[in-house]
Amino acid sequence: MDESGERAAPAAPTRRINSFDRPLKNIQILTWVIFVAILLMFYCFLVHCTWDSTSFWITLALFTICAVGTIVCCYFACSIDPIDDMCLPPEERTVDEQPMERSEMSHCYMCKVSLRKTSKHCGECKKCVATFDHHCVWLNTCIGEKNYKYFLGLVASVQLLTICALALDLAYFIELCKDSVAFHDRISDTFIQIDVIGLWIIVSIMLVFLAGLVAAVAQLAGFHCMLRWRGITTYDYVVSEQRRVNDKRQAEQQAAQRRRLEEQAAATRAAETATIAAEQEMVPV
Ligand SMILES: [Zn+2]
Ligand SMILES: [Zn+2]
Repeated sequence: MDESGERAAPAAPTRRINSFDRPLKNIQILTWVIFVAILLMFYCFLVHCTWDSTSFWITLALFTICAVGTIVCCYFACSIDPIDDMCLPPEERTVDEQPMERSEMSHCYMCKVSLRKTSKHCGECKKCVATFDHHCVWLNTCIGEKNYKYFLGLVASVQLLTICALALDLAYFIELCKDSVAFHDRISDTFIQIDVIGLWIIVSIMLVFLAGLVAAVAQLAGFHCMLRWRGITTYDYVVSEQRRVNDKRQAEQQAAQRRRLEEQAAATRAAETATIAAEQEMVPV
């Protein structure tokens, strides 16, 4: 129900339903390319350079479990529509409408509907999102109450996936540093037919790429662990940070103004003292 007591109006038909809606974004396509690149690196190179059949099967199983977890979590995070059900016609709602206190409500003038304060309107997706966390540019969809757990699962599985690939590549890099010819001879039985220089180039490029990815994903995972620990959303964090920066700037401006006034007062006092001294000198004895 909106403030005028009328039934909620359906959201605008132009809203994006999920990540797969057009238009796709370049950065979203880049995400898919990076994922495919990691899979190619592992299945076409890394797994074939392992030391024996045990290490081959263990790394293959670990990586494949992480890859399947990534695909499943990514599918749900991307395909679920995180819209607030209050924006939908009553027959399309999946969550029962709970009565809300007025203090818990806000109104979206874009969707023309009253909803919980934790729901926010996303300009990119053109809809209100239930317990809005953020609009993920990498997936090109909003993350909210309905798909947040899949988003967290995606971050965790990508972290494990990249750590698995990086650990393997780092082991090969160390082996190359110790004896590159022996490493080349060891993998010459596989279908990988590259000379020693080529091996150095491939292993080094992968090391830089995977180390960068592990660091970036670790930062994201750490950030969301901190949010869970504090019990807030990304949106809450951004708003509180903006408020903190504004408060700091305001405090600095007030301090600067106070300093200016004190300097002006000191200058006035000095001028008055100088005037009095000059007047006393001019008094005839
Ligand atoms: Zn809205
Ligand atoms: Zn969005």
